[in-house]
Amino acid sequence: MSEKQEIILSGIRPTGRLHYGNYFGAVHHFIHLQEAGHRCYYFIADYHALTTITERVDFYRQTIDMLRTYVACGLDPVKSVIYRQSDLPCTAELALLLGMVTNIGHLERGTTYKDKLSKLTSKPGSEGNPLSYGLLGYPVLMAADILIVRADKVPVGDDQRQHVEMTMDIAQKFNHRFGETLKIPRATSRKALRLPGLDGGAKMGKSEHNTLDLLDDEKTVLKKIKAVQTSTDPLPLDTDSDLPEAVIPQMPPSVGMLYRLLNLLAPEDVYLDFLGKYRRKEKFYGMLKTTLAQHVSAFNAPIIERFNDPENSPEYVEDFLRENAKKVTPVGLATVEACREAIGIGHSLYRA
Ligand code: ATP
Ligand code: MG
Repeated sequence: MSEKQEIILSGIRPTGRLHYGNYFGAVHHFIHLQEAGHRCYYFIADYHALTTITERVDFYRQTIDMLRTYVACGLDPVKSVIYRQSDLPCTAELALLLGMVTNIGHLERGTTYKDKLSKLTSKPGSEGNPLSYGLLGYPVLMAADILIVRADKVPVGDDQRQHVEMTMDIAQKFNHRFGETLKIPRATSRKALRLPGLDGGAKMGKSEHNTLDLLDDEKTVLKKIKAVQTSTDPLPLDTDSDLPEAVIPQMPPSVGMLYRLLNLLAPEDVYLDFLGKYRRKEKFYGMLKTTLAQHVSAFNAPIIERFNDPENSPEYVEDFLRENAKKVTPVGLATVEACREAIGIGHSLYRA
């Protein structure tokens, strides 16, 4: 192994099925880092899922299915420590301690919180979970997730960049007040992806209901891609570059999303061929959609097959969750105990 072994941490909420934004923004990096031999902790963020619910949801079943999808994508519960956030409950204790050094003003500037606040103010009386203490404190819990395993690196999509920066701030403040206790993680790369939704919205998201999913079958893939809005004529491209970063921001959002996916999934010549058609303003959207749908279905087929493999059963998932909870618990408790000691309340007397 050429790279130095680092500690990696990342999580996904069990709020629906894994989609292409999750895959290329996060899971794809999880697999790469796992195969490079790093110490990887990947968790299902079931506590975080509670920030947006208004009634009981069967998160347990959703967690199991999401983990079967993880395995189907190539994550290996022997190489990586894959666990459930709620199986490491001392994360909540660390969040409580970190909350003591976190300013409310800092949390109020969080984008997730601000988005929810602006939706509520623009539609007063609308359905949904009102602004909760849990939602405001979401970045503190995320900081606890990251700091508890002493992560060096946090592979997340661009939408989570601000939360990682908040974690760095919270840890620095803790260390400044109470002495060097927490490891500061590295910031998220500026090149992190934010895949737009099938509706052309700025972000594909489970809660946005605008996703293309890894478990979508051929018929569903074609139907979803055909429904993407492409009635706008191509806008002129003010660049000779073929790079997606240069051309996609100049396209209508939903068309840009189709090109982004084509670039991620199809051979380069196919992407360049369709980019040429775009520049020449040929009639090509129908063909672009069927070609992309074929590539998406070919990508999904082996994942669907491995998802349904009888060995990838709920019992198998429960077994590895139990084993991995045992592996992560001493790591988490060591951090919490160090923080208790640093703050001055001393070690837990019942855990020893
Ligand atoms: P929810 O709507 O419930 O918040 P989500 O689709 O945003 O779900 P998360 O579980 O919040 O998914 O995020 C899991 C990981 O996937 C994070 O690392 C996040 O940055 C990444 N991710 C989510 N959506 C996208 C996207 N559209 N593009 C790139 N990365 C994404
Ligand atoms: Mg999200």
